[in-house]
Amino acid sequence: MKWTVEWTAAASTPDWNQVLRSQGLPEGEALPTRLVGLVDAAFERYLALAEPRAILGFVEPDVFAGIYRGEGLNSHETPLESIVPRASRLALFVATVGQRLSAEIGDLFARHQPAAGYMLDAVASEAADGLAYAAGRELLARLQDAGELANGARVLPYSPGYCGWHVSGQRKLFAFLGPETIGVTLNQSCLMQPLKSVSGVLVVGDSATHRVHPTYSFCDHCGTKQCRERMASVK
Ligand code: SF4
Repeated sequence: MKWTVEWTAAASTPDWNQVLRSQGLPEGEALPTRLVGLVDAAFERYLALAEPRAILGFVEPDVFAGIYRGEGLNSHETPLESIVPRASRLALFVATVGQRLSAEIGDLFARHQPAAGYMLDAVASEAADGLAYAAGRELLARLQDAGELANGARVLPYSPGYCGWHVSGQRKLFAFLGPETIGVTLNQSCLMQPLKSVSGVLVVGDSATHRVHPTYSFCDHCGTKQCRERMASVK
């Protein structure tokens, strides 16, 4: 079963402090007036232009295994290989903040306003990341309504391009889900259009489901060590 979700721009607006953090800007300190103006303008543009939406679809574990294998380019051992067998439900998702924002970011750079373009890019990136979690909440609500949500169930998104899942895996994910219906396509380099889009699998399970030991060969090069926050968030 597949379904689509739409949110208002306001519901998908990222947290101001999160945007500052992503830009390496100090929180809780007075920022230069010009910088505050840039951030404010980026949030205003986001509210005016964002068209956040997603498509989700339940997927059985054996079908997901084939999608996850993708084109055989994943790392030889990955966290999802141990997480998925412990999951109670899996759903694929693609979410986007829409084409108008990507077009506006491009226009700002073309009109020689790089600072404004850069800041809008930062807001849109944080918003797109947030949609993966919003899609997860939608999934939990759907399972809850159907009486299929176990006590203590948590959901986390996992995406191609991270933790050993090769970006080419998106081809099979797109073939399964058909996100063209919400305006998202994949180019030859496996880049999503609009650029401010996210894809992946939502894994539902108890907090132990999401526990991994981040000592894979690719972890040495990981700049975020995001798995630690993710594991902490489901405890
Ligand atoms: S350290 Fe980085 S690459 Fe390794 S599992 Fe954690 S988030 Fe993924």
